[in-house]
Amino acid sequence: MARQAHPTGTKPPRPELTSNQRLVIDLLRRRRSPTTAYDILDALREKGFRAPPQAYRALERLRKLGMVHRVDSLNAFVACCQSDNTHQSDTVVLSVCTVCHGVTEMTDPKLRKKVTDLSSQCHLRAERLTVELRGCCLQCDPPDSTGDNIAAAGSGPVRPGEKSQE
Ligand SMILES: [Zn+2]
Ligand SMILES: [Zn+2]
Repeated sequence: MARQAHPTGTKPPRPELTSNQRLVIDLLRRRRSPTTAYDILDALREKGFRAPPQAYRALERLRKLGMVHRVDSLNAFVACCQSDNTHQSDTVVLSVCTVCHGVTEMTDPKLRKKVTDLSSQCHLRAERLTVELRGCCLQCDPPDSTGDNIAAAGSGPVRPGEKSQE
């Protein structure tokens, strides 16, 4: 499994994207929160999006490239928080807050190995694994909650690998 190493500070070659795919990934990266195909359609109507298949086609391709992950439990999509797609074949773990819908992405090669072992036991070649952990995040239910945490719920998720807001 040759994994291409990229020198520090050098970006890997960017996959060719159509203009629709670029519009969708830019939107998801700006929002940083789970977005449904219909939200995408609404947001990109001015840019020429007219029908759901346009959004779904772009999302499907971005998903195959590992640039977008589908959050099944919310029927929504988030941009991958890893800019270089290196974990394309790894297991992706998404923690989903059921209150604010904040999503945090993590990867774990050990988990991938375990799942690969399990799938070979049942003679299945697993291609992709997205695990969703559902629960309540610390912002929505802090351990020392005094009831004044409601304002914090709107500030959105902080995702690993991204700089916090200035
Ligand atoms: Zn990712
Ligand atoms: Zn939350």
